[in-house]
Amino acid sequence: MCTPRTGHDPARKIDWDCLACGRPWPCDPAREDLLTTHDAVQLRIAMWDALEEAARILPHTPAAELFERFLHWTEPAAG
Ligand SMILES: [Zn+2]
Repeated sequence: MCTPRTGHDPARKIDWDCLACGRPWPCDPAREDLLTTHDAVQLRIAMWDALEEAARILPHTPAAELFERFLHWTEPAAG
């Protein structure tokens, strides 16, 4: 996955909150950056990778919640 230029990176080894704004990653600035640096397919792949990595760090977070957080917004219909 490309390194976002905005500094809105996840705390990958800790809680996957954004290092810049403290919100659950991907926060809005991170999503905007991901959208500008990935096409639709690259974005889905990158977010699946992120989801799998986050699921290992956050084993108590329901899968549905992780799916909503990492993947739902990448659906074209999600706006
Ligand atoms: Zn952020």
